[in-house]
This record gives sequence, C-alpha cells and structure tokens, in this order.
Amino acid sequence: MYTAIGYAAQSATTPLAPMTFNRRSPRPDDVAIEILYCGVCHSDIHQARNEWGIAVYPLMPGHEIVGKVTEVGANVSKHKVGDLVGVGCMVDSCRHCEACAADLEQYCLEGPTLTYATPDRIDGSNTMGGYSNSIVVSEHFVVRIPEKLNPAAAAPILCAGITTYSPLKHYGVKAGDKVGVLGMGGLGHMGIKFAKAMGAEVTLFTRSASKAEEARRQGADHVIVSTDAEQMKAAAGRFDFLLDTIPVQHDLNPYLETLRFDGVHILVGLIEPVDPALHAANLVMKRRVLAGSLIGGIAETQEVLDFCAEHDISCDIEMLDIKHINEAYSRMIAGDVKYRFVIDMATLKA
Ligand code: NDP
Ligand code: ZN
Repeated sequence: MYTAIGYAAQSATTPLAPMTFNRRSPRPDDVAIEILYCGVCHSDIHQARNEWGIAVYPLMPGHEIVGKVTEVGANVSKHKVGDLVGVGCMVDSCRHCEACAADLEQYCLEGPTLTYATPDRIDGSNTMGGYSNSIVVSEHFVVRIPEKLNPAAAAPILCAGITTYSPLKHYGVKAGDKVGVLGMGGLGHMGIKFAKAMGAEVTLFTRSASKAEEARRQGADHVIVSTDAEQMKAAAGRFDFLLDTIPVQHDLNPYLETLRFDGVHILVGLIEPVDPALHAANLVMKRRVLAGSLIGGIAETQEVLDFCAEHDISCDIEMLDIKHINEAYSRMIAGDVKYRFVIDMATLKA
C-alpha cells in the first residue's frame, strides 16, 4: 500500500479539502505513477457536487493526469520506471465485450471503471482521481506522453482533447466541411483546434461576444454570438457539423436550424433531458442527425496525443495551486479561465 494525499469532497455541499488515503500496491499488470499535473474538467464540478446523481463520497476528482512511472508490476511491458505517462477518464473495463474488443472501452457493455467514484473491478474500493500525488493503474489504461508535448499542457488532452477529437474523426470531418463549435471552454477551444487541423471551416457559437478575438486566435474562421437571434437566423442551413460542449440544458432547436440537410449535431456536454423540447421537424424535414459521444478509447487517446505532437496542438492552460481549487471551480462556472486550469501537483507538497 502507498499512503497518498489529495483533495476530495466529503459531500455534495462541502468544498474540496486535503485527505490522506491508501493506494493499492501495484498488481502484476499495474503501473504506479507520481502525478505531476492534473487538468480540471467541468465534469469534476458536476461530480463533486453530485449534479449527475451518481457521486460516491469521499470523491476525489481528476481525470486529466500526467506523471512519471515510479513502479511497475511483474507483467508490465508497455511502460517502465521513469516514463512520462498519462491517465484519462477510465482505469479499467471488462476487456472482453464487443466494445472493448473494438478499442471502445468507454462503451464497455459492462460499464467502464472511471478514474474516480467507481468501484474497482477487483477489490470494490471507490476509485480516487488525479487531484493527488500518486495513482496506480493497469498498464492498458496508461498512455505515453510524446516528448514534443509540454507535459502540463498535455494533461487536458486526456479528456478535453480526446472528447472533441473522437467525434470529429468518427463522423469523418474533412477539408472544407463547415463545423460549428458550441461554447469555448476547455473542450470547445480544443474542438476549434482539431476541426481546423482537419481542414474544416470553423465557427464558434458563444454567449460571450468578448471571446471573438480569442476564438480567431484559436483558429476559428467565424464567430456567432448565440444570444443574437439575428446572427443565429442568418446562419440557417449552413453547417455540416455542430460540436456542442455547453454544460447545461439549452434549446437545441435554433442550433439544429443552422445545420444543412444531413447535418449532424453532436452532444458532448449535455447528459440531462433536452429542455426545452426538441421540435422533431428540425430533424425530420432535413434528415438531420442528433448524436452523442463519450470521451474516446485508449488507442484513440494515444492517437490524439500523437496527433497533437504532430500538428503542434496544445491546450491553453492556467497553472493552479491546488489550495485554490474551490476558487477555480467558481471561476470556471463564471467562464473566467483561458481555457483549462491545470493543477501543479508540486503545490500539494507545500
Ligand atoms: P467549461 O466550463 O470549460 O466550458 C463550457 C463552455 O460552455 C463555457 O466556456 C461557455 O462558453 C459555455 N457555457 C457555459 N455555461 C453556459 C450556459 N449556461 N449557457 C450556454 N453556454 C454556456 O467546460 P468543459 O469544456 O470542461 O466541459 C463542457 C461539458 O462537457 C461539461 O458538461 C462536461 O461535463 C462535459 N464533458 C463531456 C465529456 C464526454 O465524454 N462527453 C468529457 C468531458 C467533459 P461560451 O462562453 O463561449 O459560451
Ligand atoms: Zn473531463
């Protein structure tokens, strides 16, 4: 056993606070990692505050983890002590179902084991995430961080990056396609970069007119202020794809109307009932598709890291002292971060 420290929520209404706990000794296929950096995802807030109704406490968030291998189990062949590695949103799955066999562990038919707040498949203990100094993970779920990447800025690729890359690739976004990205936060700003790197003409839909210049710097060709009905109307029938990262219930109808026939609206931010209701005519009359997508598989997570190294793509980050994590949550909700907080785990020692 390792004694570990980290920041956890003890209930949905208490702020995150330091906690000491045990990490298991590596099993034969496990890799032990000293965590150097961990990104802060909006899902961490949803979970710490039990906004999805599935939280288990104490809840230690963090699924954008970069660190150094400190120990490996006897059967580990993929990583060695000293390697710079990453762990994203999953740490295990059944490994034999149809989805796992297709490298889509996120859609494991028995349900993937998430990096936090999920029972471990072997000992049943509640998984604890990356707001911590260490983690122990089966080697299959540990990816290699390419040398070319800045390790701190690479951390958010493990969730924000893969979640936006995977659906754009799955739906075959190609040069010349018109892609709209809804919301420019951690996921959205990566979505802009990926769509641009795939050759698309990219438009940001944002509530915040003040983000226009920033969006262009990220690679957006156009910006639509979503609260301006005139701008929304003028965009009718224009887009091939919409990548929707908005983290709260919102009216999909005006966005669907901006899709051309056969256009695809991909939800990644919303996992609650759609409210206000969807007008089915917005799908039927134009053969439009409403889709969803969850992170990406482990092989594809390695692929997106390599893609970022090759295309010189990195996340825009603000380094965070872990003692300011609760303040960071408030700032994220207010939209006051460009565009991902990354915890410098050296601050945990202090
Ligand atoms: P952020 O908070 O970083 O960004 C969300 C953006 O959405 C904001 O920057 C803002 O953009 C827009 N937004 C925020 N609030 C509202 C609102 N009330 N109405 C309209 N737009 C709003 O979040 P993340 O990018 O980290 O995460 C986005 C969502 O994706 C979360 O719900 C998260 O849980 C989910 N997620 C899903 C994954 C999956 O696998 N499907 C994986 C990871 C995260 P602007 O100011 O430009 O309008
Ligand atoms: Zn996430």
